[in-house]
Amino acid sequence: MQKLCILGSTGSIGKSTLDVIRLHPEKFDVVSLSAHSSVDLMLAQCIEFRPKTVVMVSIEHANVLASKLLAASINDINVTSGTCALETIAQDIGTDTVMAAIVGASGLLPTLAAVKAGKKVLLANKEALVTSGAIFIDAVKQSGAQLLPIDSEHNAIFQCLPLNAQQQPGYCDLADNGVSKILLTGSGGPFRTWDNQALEHVTPAQACAHPNWDMGRKISVDSATMMNKGLEFIEAKWLFNVDPEDIQVVLHPQSTIHSMVQYKDGSVIAQMGNPDMRTPIAHALSFPQRIESGVAPFDFFTAKSFEFQDVDYIKYPNLKLAIDACKSGQGACTALNAANEVAVDAFLNEKIKFTDIAKINETSVNKFVSEKVTSIEDVVALDRNVRIFAQSLVSESEH
Ligand code: NDP
Ligand code: MG
Repeated sequence: MQKLCILGSTGSIGKSTLDVIRLHPEKFDVVSLSAHSSVDLMLAQCIEFRPKTVVMVSIEHANVLASKLLAASINDINVTSGTCALETIAQDIGTDTVMAAIVGASGLLPTLAAVKAGKKVLLANKEALVTSGAIFIDAVKQSGAQLLPIDSEHNAIFQCLPLNAQQQPGYCDLADNGVSKILLTGSGGPFRTWDNQALEHVTPAQACAHPNWDMGRKISVDSATMMNKGLEFIEAKWLFNVDPEDIQVVLHPQSTIHSMVQYKDGSVIAQMGNPDMRTPIAHALSFPQRIESGVAPFDFFTAKSFEFQDVDYIKYPNLKLAIDACKSGQGACTALNAANEVAVDAFLNEKIKFTDIAKINETSVNKFVSEKVTSIEDVVALDRNVRIFAQSLVSESEH
């Protein structure tokens, strides 16, 4: 039995992970779960999966959960709270595998704790890698942790790579293994066919209605601005140890191909299927074996079309910002991620316009681009400073 910790079990990825696990009770044992404050869903997950430990980051919500568990006559689950408790469950000796599915840079320290403890780490939390880059990958190398990508594009790329590269994510030389390019696909989000002027008036509900994927609110907005593809560009650089010049973004509105790898002999290997996160989750949970995920098989005869387009960087300034940040260095990437989290939150709370997100991100990156980031303490300090700055920009642009 694989012993699992799921960080962010009440989120979109967390729930899909439990959906896959539910199909294979003989293979997986849920040892620990975490959430921020979703008490009722966590209560239901506790009743069904009986973890040993649960972390609710918010202490008030931890107390409410503890009393609801007692009322349900469940007294063998240890309920803890606070961010340090996340690190404790992530590195616990009784856990083999950690699903890193907290949203945003809040997932960095617990994910890194799992890496340092040498766990099998299933990485959904792309912001953790974007914000710490080489520091994260060096920790993987040092501990020998097994890193498996959950992001559908990176999981697809991983599946298309030669075995040699799969065994050493982050530090295999892909050119030595015949790879010439990583082709990162993206749907273009809900506004691909909109007039650029109309983007000024986008509402949070419109931005969260992704045409192909059902996801948490933050990543849905990132998909609409294509910052998500930008974060994925940076994520790909680190996960696959490639230069930005060797990654190409390809718009593919149907999201059937989840990404591709081009080889120097002209071959292109693509991974495809229905857009459902249970496929990459099942792949990573069982790697190198294959298990059922609950996803319907892809039907080529009902697929309407199969299109590919170049990217319009005027429509998607955030993607351009992220590619430039990737080329500039860690200070720019950490700053961009922090500013974006603040801006997206402000947009979701209707404090700023959709188009203000890119402006806040750009001003923040320009201010912090030359900051040196060589330790995790540097990451945490820069992340904090950028958030304060970006928050001041939000206040200036509030409407
Ligand atoms: P959700 O918003 O749906 O879920 C986030 C999870 O993290 C919830 O369990 C939430 O708890 C918890 N959480 C929120 N804030 C904090 C915090 N400050 N500290 C600790 N825990 C917190 O996000 P998604 O599942 O959509 O995304 C999770 C990660 O996976 C992101 O990094 C995203 O980029 C990545 N990803 C997601 C995909 C998807 O299809 N959803 C696809 C590819 C990558 P609570 O419920 O209590 O708020
Ligand atoms: Mg993705």
